[in-house]
Amino acid sequence: MDIKLLDIKFDSVKHETLDMLGIEWLIARLDLIHPIVSGNKLYKLYFYVQDAITNNKTILVTKGGAYSNHLVASAYYAQLNGLKSIGLVRGEKAKHQSHTLTQCEAWGMQLAYISREDYPLINENNIQQYVSFDKKHCFFIPEGGYGNSGTKGASHIMEAISSLNPSYITTAVGTGCTLSGLLYNKKSQAKIIAVPVLKGFHDLEKNMSDLLASQTPINFEVFNDYHFGGYAKKNEVLLQFMNAFYVENNIPTDFVYTGKMIYGIWDKINAGYFPKESKIISIHTGGLQGNLSLPKGTLVF
Ligand SMILES: *Cc1c(COP(=O)(O)O)cnc(C)c1O
Repeated sequence: MDIKLLDIKFDSVKHETLDMLGIEWLIARLDLIHPIVSGNKLYKLYFYVQDAITNNKTILVTKGGAYSNHLVASAYYAQLNGLKSIGLVRGEKAKHQSHTLTQCEAWGMQLAYISREDYPLINENNIQQYVSFDKKHCFFIPEGGYGNSGTKGASHIMEAISSLNPSYITTAVGTGCTLSGLLYNKKSQAKIIAVPVLKGFHDLEKNMSDLLASQTPINFEVFNDYHFGGYAKKNEVLLQFMNAFYVENNIPTDFVYTGKMIYGIWDKINAGYFPKESKIISIHTGGLQGNLSLPKGTLVF
């Protein structure tokens, strides 16, 4: 793996509650991989891009919303590998373009806006109707990097983490692809804790069984109560928590994924969920560029 994907920094959370409970809490800083393109998306892209290169494809085609961490990661990673990229964006072109899409274009991604009706129908077999290049040069990556290659890529996150022998590994969950990657890599005995950021996310089990094939995940639990009303929803409690966590630990989080996950783990620590001498590693999956959509001054970092 390249761009230092395996060179993960771990920061320790300091708090008297943790000392009192005898709990060690580390944050795996995938957000430090790159200032804008941070986190799990680069791992998920790795094998797709390898496949594209092996098959002599020169153009990556993928899709996402106007604030998509995946789109910006794809634009960057394509450029890094000398590939062109096309981003199929959900919905109309906005009057004020998001910073995410501006950044995508800065990394050479060509954007095309797809109506909300057509967007869900885009797949590997029909991309020709959305792109002007010949399909034979194009390599399609599903939204969010979701799929077997994404799972395999995400499983590499475990390489760096398992050597620290944690008793718990926690991650925010969107599609469950990263989570499946952690479970796919059997190196660790740790219990894996998933914190979904979507409300009533019923597809998680289905997605996991798709991605993990016949493997039944054991030693795994879902904390369902930390979605804060749904995807990209937020409130003062969450934002204040993120600010306080930053002030105390110097670790920035994002309001869509990692802020909610860290909040949830902290809440469960305080509720006595984790036994004495637990060693928890929470994966900071990145996504910090998403905070730029918040009004200035909302966050102290
Ligand atoms: C996409 C994303 C996730 C969710 O990953 P899945 O593999 O879809 O579950 C978590 N955190 C951040 C910062 C992300 O951008």
